[in-house]
Amino acid sequence: MKPRCIQPGNGTRMQYCLAMLALIWYVFKTTIPSNGFGNRFASMIIAGNWKMNLTRQEAVALTTAVIPAASDNLGIILFPPSILIDTVRDHLASGNGNGGEGIALGGQDSHAAASGPHTGDIAAPMLREAGCTWVLLGHSERRADHGETSAMVAAKAVQAIAHDLAPMICVGESLDDRQSGRAGDVVEHQLRDSLTGVEPGACFAIAYEPIWAIGTGKTAGSDDIAQMHGHIRSVLTSINADHAGVPILYGGSVKPGNAGDIFDQQHVDGALVGGASLDADQFLSIIRSARSRA
Ligand code: PEP
Repeated sequence: MKPRCIQPGNGTRMQYCLAMLALIWYVFKTTIPSNGFGNRFASMIIAGNWKMNLTRQEAVALTTAVIPAASDNLGIILFPPSILIDTVRDHLASGNGNGGEGIALGGQDSHAAASGPHTGDIAAPMLREAGCTWVLLGHSERRADHGETSAMVAAKAVQAIAHDLAPMICVGESLDDRQSGRAGDVVEHQLRDSLTGVEPGACFAIAYEPIWAIGTGKTAGSDDIAQMHGHIRSVLTSINADHAGVPILYGGSVKPGNAGDIFDQQHVDGALVGGASLDADQFLSIIRSARSRA
């Protein structure tokens, strides 16, 4: 006897479809970390590292100027000091007009622990709760000022990812390293050690920032940038084939005058901008340069 085929009635079928949609949405939300760009990487990312600068009023004015630059084909990330994150978030929410897509928020650091007795530090879940989708980790100023090692950066990255934050991990050689021909090795070690424990498929980015170019007005030459970004791409791929498409940003005195040339280099997926991100005209000009190449 043939088994009876039970066809769900219309109501049952509708409930079944809704349940499947809910399940797909749940799996999507819980397995794919968000980066503020609709869970995909924009073709170019321009990030502004405000460091320890700006009053609340200045932060609002700068955010107001940047909001119209949001667009689908470009990722913009603002990294304000943590005390200004709420203000910038509220301002973005009120004026962005596209639900926050296109301009993401990040913290400038987060701790390797999720909570605990760490006076003055900030934890990844706190940043996430405040509306951040990114966090800068291992900036050379933190490596220098706070003695951060790549192992510490890796522990922070793992914790950040566990709380649905995409880390932007900074690497870069000193002038001494470059002059003595060790730049490639130094950056490779920083990459490998800073990514220990970061699982394939995690959402993160790398910022290559030669220390001697940060805040000095000196920029690495186009050939050096292309060579180092190619090197970083191959190291990432050798760590795990899944890391091959991770965005690699350049940072170090990026200005309107040199941005176009930098963005034309292979494997440059955007810029981490310090000083020029504090000046609306300069930051917007860098964004325009990137957008024309996105
Ligand atoms: C930075 O701090 O990440 C940076 C690149 O700074 P600047 O653009 O001022 O060199």
